Amino acid sequence: MISIRKYLDGPEAVAVTPAPETRNRRSTLEVAAVYLDAYRSALTDFGRCSVDVCASTGAPLENSLVRTSDGLASSRSADLVAASAAQVRACLKEWSHNTARHFQQKAAEVKQILLAMAQTTAAVTQRDQRCTDQLTSITTSLQRITSLDDISAMRRAIEHNAANLKASIDRMQVEGRAVLDQMQAKVAAFETKLQEAEDFAACDPLTHLRNRLYLEDQLAQRISAGSRFCVAILDIDGFKSVNDTHGHVLGDELLKHFAAELRSACRSSDIVGRWGGDEFLVLLDCGIDNAQAQIDRAVKWACGNYTVQGTEGPVKLTVGASVGLAEFAAPESMKELLDRADAAMYQNKRAGRPPTKIA
Ligand code: GH3
Ligand code: MG
Repeated sequence: MISIRKYLDGPEAVAVTPAPETRNRRSTLEVAAVYLDAYRSALTDFGRCSVDVCASTGAPLENSLVRTSDGLASSRSADLVAASAAQVRACLKEWSHNTARHFQQKAAEVKQILLAMAQTTAAVTQRDQRCTDQLTSITTSLQRITSLDDISAMRRAIEHNAANLKASIDRMQVEGRAVLDQMQAKVAAFETKLQEAEDFAACDPLTHLRNRLYLEDQLAQRISAGSRFCVAILDIDGFKSVNDTHGHVLGDELLKHFAAELRSACRSSDIVGRWGGDEFLVLLDCGIDNAQAQIDRAVKWACGNYTVQGTEGPVKLTVGASVGLAEFAAPESMKELLDRADAAMYQNKRAGRPPTKIA
């Protein structure tokens, strides 16, 4: 229940720095705790920003930083902080290397597309030049016919030129078709590549649901079109305790299982995505009554008993989630709409849903 709240609160939502006199009264331990909390918060914020920069290379970094931050919440020893700083440096180094390589690769792909377009243009120009040369030579030879006196010589010359003209036109057709086929094949290959790149950029790497960037884009499209739609926010209850008890790897597995169940319980027309952490969003293109019925059914399906494979064998969990639903009411903004759905989700959580239990 962290990421969407932070997103909605924006950059203004930073902790207020206490007045100097209050600060002086604080013990060294208290000050250290404040710094540590700020450090942990910076780690998770950096992770979120790295996903915004590049989803594919940012997601593993975000995951590592969340784990480091969670690790520091349970134990606050100076040794652990120092070790975590070294670990964070290594993660950042790897991330910067991977991100640079990713963008180099993308730049190379764009270069390849431009090169193919230039080659196709050159091929068309060459073919046109060849055709122009052939037609010019036929025209010249036709002009020469007018200087002939012998009617049969004129007829032979005309027949010869007519045959040449037909051969040239046939060649033009064949060459034109070949260039066109070549162009179509290249365009199809690039379309496939582009589609793959678009799908990849819209995918949450852990759950393979749609990611936050895609969800934001879909929300913006519906809002600017003034469409009728609803947004549901789902947040797993007590998910932290799963991480704390069984580790993040099992937590990741649970997120994957939960995401798959949620996707399967929603209609194919609904857009299901992971906003971040244990938060999911569903966009439903219908009014609130229909959406409420759909989402109640989906939540009922996705919540319940799971058996997740841990490092020491299968673990049984009972998963609960809180949900908040809101219908878009023009002319509200995306933030206002998400705020309403988040407030409804919060209310649902406060209503005392049973947290995710470890059997
Ligand atoms: P609440 O019942 O109020 O929703 O609390 P909660 O325990 O479910 O925790 P909350 O929703 O506030 O925070 C979600 C936690 O999910 C925080 C973070 O430790 C963890 N988390 C975030 N991203 C990942 C991830 O990719 N994998 C795993 N395993 N854990 C994650
Ligand atoms: Mg939660």
